[in-house]
Amino acid sequence: MDHFLYRDGTLFAEDVPIRDIAASVGTPFYVYSCATLTRHYRLFEEALSGLDHLVCFAVKSNGNQAVLAHLAKLGAGMDVVSGGEYRRARAAGVPGERIVFSGVGKTAEEMRLALEGGIRQFNLESEPEMQRLSRVASEMGTIAPVTVRVNPDVDARTHEKIATGKSENKFGIPIARAREVYAEAAALPGLDVIGIDVHIGSQLTDLEPFEIAYEKVAELTRQLRADGHDIRRLDLGGGLGIPYERSNSAPPLPIEYGEVIKRTVGDLDVEVEIEPGRLISGNAGLLVSGVTYVKQGEGRDFLILDAAMNDLIRPAMYGAWHDIIPVEEPAPGVDQTPYDIVGPVCESGDTFAKQRHMPPLAEGDLVAFRSAGAYGAVMASEYNTRPLIPEVLVKDDHFAVIRARPTFDEIIKRDTVPEWL
Ligand SMILES: *Cc1c(COP(=O)(O)O)cnc(C)c1O
Repeated sequence: MDHFLYRDGTLFAEDVPIRDIAASVGTPFYVYSCATLTRHYRLFEEALSGLDHLVCFAVKSNGNQAVLAHLAKLGAGMDVVSGGEYRRARAAGVPGERIVFSGVGKTAEEMRLALEGGIRQFNLESEPEMQRLSRVASEMGTIAPVTVRVNPDVDARTHEKIATGKSENKFGIPIARAREVYAEAAALPGLDVIGIDVHIGSQLTDLEPFEIAYEKVAELTRQLRADGHDIRRLDLGGGLGIPYERSNSAPPLPIEYGEVIKRTVGDLDVEVEIEPGRLISGNAGLLVSGVTYVKQGEGRDFLILDAAMNDLIRPAMYGAWHDIIPVEEPAPGVDQTPYDIVGPVCESGDTFAKQRHMPPLAEGDLVAFRSAGAYGAVMASEYNTRPLIPEVLVKDDHFAVIRARPTFDEIIKRDTVPEWL
């Protein structure tokens, strides 16, 4: 459920008409709803109630400072995958002890940054990384709390580009080698081995892969404890999927996901962390765009929007579906027309949808892409020298621009022409 609904024939974000935001900010833009972010964060809180737990929002899904600050006020921790995201989380007011650091390629500089600023734990992904953190922490005269990310070799049954838990993926260490790697970690100076980490992929629409992976982690917890490790925290990753196509998908609910967690690791007397991104931020955002032209092609009509693949890359990159709806509510029973919905970028890949049935639309009309709050703005670029589009946050009946559109001067001035040219 989200807070983007038609009222009096026009689409609202909470109590603000989308067309008012469009008139003030100009299209295209992203708009996020505080109430929806809150609701989805709380669904996870409720799903884990009764367990000692922390919900760490995956910053990579939506790293805007206002979004992070809002979630931080609700008590969320953060999962970061770079020094830049670590800085974002800290700048949004998240204390170091609520930040976990994931990712396969942490540099010594990023390790120092997090150790200086405070960190809940590093999720280590390889032996060389383990050795480097040991060296960095020892040089600083400190102890780094760590888990090791294990790769359980489970098929997450999601898009191949966002599956991370199969043995051929670059993530984690093979679970079969875990006892050996934990023994090595425990022997290294500067590391405190506190738990186990797993994350098998994103946009999972089935609970079974989670269940299989968490069973394996539970078994490993018992083995590692028997080997003498004080395993007291399990980071179970993120990945729960959302219904991008509302008419025919109903992924599992957070409460059902919570039941899987309780069933698999609930009796281990551990602190549980989860790292949801998409399920918290995805349906909390829309991409709003204007129709620039309706073009009649050979046997098909094109809806040419002012948004493009550089603003929302998911359709081009993953073949992803986004529901696209008109901002002005169509009259009931109006005939639908198939359109190819495209952007103005000079690539055929700049296609959001093919032969999508929509009510008839005309130049100047507004459309909204649903479920665009996650992996939308964060993956945007300025390809074709199209400025990064603004982000807007709505709370009740007010809205604010939380990232402004850069001017062309700002964009061009980032380059420098060397004087010897
Ligand atoms: C991407 C990622 C997440 C978040 O995944 P979602 O599908 O957005 O919930 C969590 N943890 C790690 C390590 C990730 O790489």
